[in-house]
Amino acid sequence: MNTIYFDNSASAIPCAQALGVFAETAKIYANPSSLHSAGLHARRIIENARAKAAAAFRCQSGELVFTSGGTESNNTAVRGLAHKNRRAGNVIVTTRAEHPSVVATALSLEREGYETVFVASPGGVPDPDELESVLKSKKVCLVTLMQANNQNGAVTDLKKVREIMESSGTGALLHSDCVQSFLKLPEESASDAARFCDAASVSAHKIGGVKGTGALFVRKGIAIPALMTGGEQENGVRAGTENIAGICAMAEAVAHYGAAERAKVAGLREYIINSLREQLGENVVITEPPRHIDSLFNFALVNVKSEVALNYLNSVGVCVSSSSACSSKAKTNAALASMGYGAEYERSALRIGISPYNTKEECDLLVAALKGALAFRIKGK
Ligand code: PLP
Repeated sequence: MNTIYFDNSASAIPCAQALGVFAETAKIYANPSSLHSAGLHARRIIENARAKAAAAFRCQSGELVFTSGGTESNNTAVRGLAHKNRRAGNVIVTTRAEHPSVVATALSLEREGYETVFVASPGGVPDPDELESVLKSKKVCLVTLMQANNQNGAVTDLKKVREIMESSGTGALLHSDCVQSFLKLPEESASDAARFCDAASVSAHKIGGVKGTGALFVRKGIAIPALMTGGEQENGVRAGTENIAGICAMAEAVAHYGAAERAKVAGLREYIINSLREQLGENVVITEPPRHIDSLFNFALVNVKSEVALNYLNSVGVCVSSSSACSSKAKTNAALASMGYGAEYERSALRIGISPYNTKEECDLLVAALKGALAFRIKGK
């Protein structure tokens, strides 16, 4: 049975060229911190990859630190920026819709005297009035808000967030989890994170790279304390010998996710949504935030429980998810609940993540399988 893979927001189908580069650069055995010629060669390869990734993020090379992934980038940013800016206050502002690597890190800082304030996030976008009122009334050291929500793809306008921060007179720093938005936004918004944030997190395996690599943008001039200590690598922000193959594969994946790939993903999204509406009619509720990325969307099969649908889909070779992979073992989906969709929707929520390597034929098979899942509607409904 062939696998029809539409869980690309949990981990994307890798880009073939990135896998090729991964295999090739895994052969580079010298330590990039060594001063002999082999070490210097390894260093040049990393710096070349850094320049490519930084260009895509629209920042300077020196502002990009390689990490082990989005989780580490978020942990480093939230902890590091909160400590760095402790003088401005002890309050961290975020939302319940954030990824657990942000929420759990913020909450863990409460043991060190910080307070976490959750701003409402209807539909996955933080309430601007509430954000402003918290910023005006509390001593905030850090605002951390994701650019694209990993459950429904809703996009938060970072320019607007920065404007609210400026008009409120806060001394807070701004971090954004850009794991789902990196390379997925239209050209005019592609530089938003680097323009308006002090730090931003990305991950390689969401864009066609390999798991175990990510990056953290830290604005020039902000000396963020390291999470991993014991070495001066990555500007002293992330100790440990660099993962050359993962880094080079990430840079290669970046080079292969551009306007054409975004257009293909947008086309497939539209095709799936139209087919679902045509073929499932009132049996499907699709969430379409006004501003969204095209690489994922959330929907519910009316009266079919998520786990029942997932089991059926899995039995016919179709992979989607019921929520973000990191919370897939949790009994309830706190992030989705915080967005205000209601218990009935939440119980049936599914997420489709689209890759430029998916095909229309796969979309047809996906929609047919979802139609098949309707046979498992709760009896009597
Ligand atoms: N942030 C968001 C929004 C995510 O969707 C994910 C992964 O699903 C992460 C962070 C974690 O990234 P990683 O899997 O690279 O640790």
